[in-house]
Amino acid sequence: MQALQRDELLRQMADKTFDLLIIGGGITGAGIALDAASRGLSVALVEKNDFASGTSSRSTKLIHGGLRYLKQYEFQLVREVGSERAIVHKLAPHLVVPRKMLLPIIKDGNYGKNLTSLGLWVYDVLAGVKGDDRRVILSKEKTLLQEPLLREDILEGGGYYAEYRTDDARLTVELMKKALSLGAICLNYTRVKDFVYNADQTIQGALLQDEIDGNPIMVTASCIVNAAGPWVDELRKADGSLQGKRLHLTKGVHIVVPRDRFPIRQAVYFDVPDGRMIFAIPRGKITYIGTTDTDYTGIKEKPRTLQKDVDYLLQGLTYVFPGIALTSSDVVSSWAGLRPLIHQDGKSASELSRKDEVFISSTGLISIAGGKLTGYRKMAEKVCNLVVNKLGKGKKRSITKNLPLAGSDFSAYGGVEAYERQLAKRLKDWGLDAYFAEYITHNYGTQGDTIIGLMEQREEQDPSLRLLLAELDFAIKWELVQKPVDFFIRRTGLIYFDIDRVRAYRSAILDAFSKKWNWGTLQLDQAQKELDDVLLEASEFPLTETVVHPSTLDSTLQPS
Ligand code: FAD
Repeated sequence: MQALQRDELLRQMADKTFDLLIIGGGITGAGIALDAASRGLSVALVEKNDFASGTSSRSTKLIHGGLRYLKQYEFQLVREVGSERAIVHKLAPHLVVPRKMLLPIIKDGNYGKNLTSLGLWVYDVLAGVKGDDRRVILSKEKTLLQEPLLREDILEGGGYYAEYRTDDARLTVELMKKALSLGAICLNYTRVKDFVYNADQTIQGALLQDEIDGNPIMVTASCIVNAAGPWVDELRKADGSLQGKRLHLTKGVHIVVPRDRFPIRQAVYFDVPDGRMIFAIPRGKITYIGTTDTDYTGIKEKPRTLQKDVDYLLQGLTYVFPGIALTSSDVVSSWAGLRPLIHQDGKSASELSRKDEVFISSTGLISIAGGKLTGYRKMAEKVCNLVVNKLGKGKKRSITKNLPLAGSDFSAYGGVEAYERQLAKRLKDWGLDAYFAEYITHNYGTQGDTIIGLMEQREEQDPSLRLLLAELDFAIKWELVQKPVDFFIRRTGLIYFDIDRVRAYRSAILDAFSKKWNWGTLQLDQAQKELDDVLLEASEFPLTETVVHPSTLDSTLQPS
């Protein structure tokens, strides 16, 4: 792996003409960058904040077969996402991890016994589910054995089926790294401020701003793709092409409680009284619960977990797990994300299709919106087919199906488990327990070896800090991390999955950043405030959304 230098990437991006410029460093943009670079196109990708800082670090973190789409009769979508998850698992088996899901069948619930049985069977067939992954229908007794915490009086049985758990932000970062390794120039903290046009009004490039030092950069490209997620319409507006279909943003919240306060044995997808369904997913030391689905018109930069979101999720939980007396004070962390869906007249938030759509403006700007994390590869393929046709250059077919991501040197999932066991032995010598082996394996795969190597070069006495600083060395060298919040949210996930560790090592990490980049007091104070704000936002729940006056947002592309 070649170390990545942001300055050098900036130099290579400036004043150059690319085949393709992608705006947006979420999973959609990252997938397109990898597909295009692997087809032989010259590619630049710009992200105004950190990679995955939009929706792509705030999902339920499942690469799933889309069981809920069956209820909306979206059979083609079930087929596509079902086969996609098998492919994405193969590309990164440590990061897209098979986990069984239990669907309790409850009296007057969404799915009766017959519908669950038929639905899961159709799902298995459409999604091409094989072997042990196929669904099993359980009796009431067996369901309770599987999950003793479930409410007994309304339980009629259970469906037991396969899902895949991921870390959305890490998946995005790994796609970006792969694209970079194939020659794409991907830059975080680089904002598109405006578009530049040819005399015939076709789009020619973009005026960017380096959000680290404020310098302007000009980039031209034969083709420009807008993959800005919830901000897609802002860029369409700036291009003068916001006509016809528009985005409809809905907010989804997840809350995090300590695992010992809600010790379910496996992930559960259950009915809540208003007819919706939510997930409870155990992961390491915590269990997370979500999601909500409500219309959102607030500031896109800062969707918040409100007290009413927490109450809704806890009430839903109590309905099916009555013995678990959780209150707001048990919630140690949370996240809120915005679904960039396509508006459909008369449909409520939960009824809106999750399908992706592509818009091509008269200026030539290609915008893609909607879709799922799970379908990122197919979305990228669709966009790159358009780009290749338009340019008349590059491979006609996508090859990303056969491009494993970094750290994925496993022939099957058994290899991931063996690696974790071997890592556990090595980490035990350092005084670190099995939790760390699981965490390192699923975050980094075999890149864990490099992290252990970096750990060996350090001298701290506390092994947990030593490991964290080795991860930071890794993230700075190979993952373009710029700020402590990038590290704690989108490289390690610790804000969500181990917030106490963030609090414990907050000062050490700030100090390490400060030394690495020779920060003055002002920069250090700023980074510290940013981190403290993020800690507060994750664990405190206001009654209303943050109100920020648009004029205080640091963008020329203001929220529409
Ligand atoms: P984003 O991740 O938002 O990326 C767009 C990026 O564009 C942002 O990072 C933004 O900063 C950048 N940008 C905007 N304007 C500019 C500019 N002017 N210049 C430069 N950059 C700019 N899908 C699944 O498959 N499985 C799930 O379990 C799942 N759960 C979900 C749960 C919730 C609550 C939500 C909200 C979504 C969920 N999804 C799930 C859907 C999935 O997360 C999204 O479809 C996906 O993350 C969208 O990615 P994106 O790249 O299109 O958008």
